[in-house]
Amino acid sequence: MPEGPTVRRFSSLVSPFVGQQVVKVGGSTKQIALQDVMGRWIHDCQVQGKKLYIAFGCCKTREAASADAQEQGDEEEEEEKSLCDPAPSDSSSPSTSHLSTASKEDDSSCTWLRFHFGLYGSIRANEIARAKQGNKRGDWKDPTPRLILHFTSGGFLVFYNCRIHWCSSPDVEPSCDILSPEFDKKKALSVLSAPKPVCITLMDQRHFSGVGNIIKNEILYLAGVHPLSLGSLVPADTLSALIDHAISFTAQWYRNKMQGEPMHYHIYMKESCEKGHKVVKESIGPPCGLKRLTWYCPTCQELAQPKEPT
Ligand SMILES: [Zn+2]
Repeated sequence: MPEGPTVRRFSSLVSPFVGQQVVKVGGSTKQIALQDVMGRWIHDCQVQGKKLYIAFGCCKTREAASADAQEQGDEEEEEEKSLCDPAPSDSSSPSTSHLSTASKEDDSSCTWLRFHFGLYGSIRANEIARAKQGNKRGDWKDPTPRLILHFTSGGFLVFYNCRIHWCSSPDVEPSCDILSPEFDKKKALSVLSAPKPVCITLMDQRHFSGVGNIIKNEILYLAGVHPLSLGSLVPADTLSALIDHAISFTAQWYRNKMQGEPMHYHIYMKESCEKGHKVVKESIGPPCGLKRLTWYCPTCQELAQPKEPT
């Protein structure tokens, strides 16, 4: 499943299309009506953890955006015009007709599409994903796009294996997003101190948005914390180090992704740890929730024990 750094990279593929109009739509999705996207302009793109949000408006820019554009001066504005279809003006946008029946918004606002990527979800810009191997029957079939958006510039975005829904606003809370500079470490520390296995708390997207199974495994190993240790039994400075690893590991992974470099894993899917100990692989999850494969070294990551009564 794409984790925070991957979804941030997806966002960087969408960003160049902000300010452009959708001129053709395709894809197999039944979760939205394709004609509801047709003719709209992309206004914004935001990320919260593993979710991506794209704002669609029925005119070229929102009021605030047009004010910004004026401030940026004529030169940039000319550049922007050259990227966009010069034909429709704000008042005669072809999107206005279907928007008046399809949504609750007025011309100055926009609605958002929320993308949630499954195990193999992805976005590509200006290219189609090709089959890497034949299927069981021997057929060579390219992945089917859920959604394809073509823009005035001639560029296009292709979305694979994702759930797509309209929403009125993005559910973005930077203080809970591990990749945000506003991530609240103090709040995270208090959540992690709960009497629950730390590996379960770390996967809670309400508090550690963007952390996925790979990040969880790696940072627990780097901090020397057993995945089943109860947060309440782990010393506060160790939990603090665990959060520091979460921040630095995800930031490094994102930098690697942007440079097209692979990430080196210390424990994830390894047979032995870096000191040569045998790694344990176990399915761990909340009692009624999803169990995730967890790799850990029982020697380097000791289970936190309650203090002996004195
Ligand atoms: Zn070890």
